[in-house]
Amino acid sequence: MASSKLSDCSSARLLPLRRALLPPRLRPSPALASRRRLFVAAPPQLLPRPRCMDSVPAAAASSADPATISSDVSAKIIDGKLVSKQIREEIAIKIARMKDAIGIVPGLAVILVGSRKDSQTYVRNKKKACEVVGIKSYEVNLPEDSSEEEVIKHIASFNSDPFVHGILVQLPLPRHMNDENILNAVSIEKDVDGFHPLNIGRLAMQGRDPFFVPCTPKGCMELLHRYGVEIKGKRAVVIGRSNIVGMPAALLLQKANATVSIVHSQTKNPEEITRQADIVIAAVGVANLVRGNWIKPGAAIIDVGINPVDDPESPRGYRLVGDVCYEEASKVAGAITPVPGGVGPMTIAMLLSNTLQSAKRIHKFK
Ligand code: NAP
Repeated sequence: MASSKLSDCSSARLLPLRRALLPPRLRPSPALASRRRLFVAAPPQLLPRPRCMDSVPAAAASSADPATISSDVSAKIIDGKLVSKQIREEIAIKIARMKDAIGIVPGLAVILVGSRKDSQTYVRNKKKACEVVGIKSYEVNLPEDSSEEEVIKHIASFNSDPFVHGILVQLPLPRHMNDENILNAVSIEKDVDGFHPLNIGRLAMQGRDPFFVPCTPKGCMELLHRYGVEIKGKRAVVIGRSNIVGMPAALLLQKANATVSIVHSQTKNPEEITRQADIVIAAVGVANLVRGNWIKPGAAIIDVGINPVDDPESPRGYRLVGDVCYEEASKVAGAITPVPGGVGPMTIAMLLSNTLQSAKRIHKFK
């Protein structure tokens, strides 16, 4: 059963620290059966035991028909941690094959400007993830007071380095720098973050494909695909329209032939619009904004939000919650990502995937 701490969505208090401190079945009732109509069976290894089944003996749970659930279990848990692990294993195998065949491994360059602790942690985690799958990482650390020209000089050098297949500039950049000038300097063929305007433009155009899709929205789509959620012809609502998550997520859903609506801070009736959706991707940054009564029964919910809220019982004094009230939504939805353990782990996995894809394309390795 989901933690009782999560049940009181209306009282969760958002902490001011925000992102800077973030670390990086038995037969269903007719109502529950109807909630599942969106889904085709996922491969058994992708059917994690829902938290609600923790009291069911492991043997009974593992042998249960995935289409049947106990009466108090509702949504299927979309386990990003598990999928991310599988993807990393797949990537490691492909990189080993590439190395054997052509003697080349993918290379990822990360440029970090300044000494923000959170950015240093993200860069360290990316480096570690690269090492595990066999990607060679290159790192440039520049002081906070570096000039834009210095950063662009390093980008230019990585653009022409044949051993570097992906370039990532850790954001946020110091205030005196213009993000746009810097991100535009990354070659679109090595823009593994997918933030270059030409990559976003290609994503938006019919009949064109971007070199890279931004990692977090790509991770959302991968979760939907790997859990067998049908997208074609379905109604999807994306809550949030940021350049890095909401907007590309909406473009990806549209490319996959969903009919897409975007809800943002000026939307008049967000509940009503969201209730029409078979698929919801929430990327807002407001703890527990999406309540159970916003959800259409059976919908698939991908919660991108990572929001710290007060929790005196936690040793850290806070805990992380999503943009969706998990306790309420998991009783109505057909499938849902938890926070943490949903979209979060997928973002780095997609960065590794984009870097491998780039190396394969540059070296024409099938
Ligand atoms: P952002 O740039 O701040 O964008 C937030 C979006 O939400 C904006 O489009 C904003 O609308 C909209 N919004 C704000 N309040 C709203 C409301 N009350 N109702 C409807 N829409 C509202 O945030 P972001 O970078 O996209 O990140 C969103 C969340 O995802 C954050 O919690 C962040 O920590 C998390 N995140 C997670 C990952 C991951 O790897 N899991 C990666 C990136 C981000 P307007 O455009 O009208 O202002």
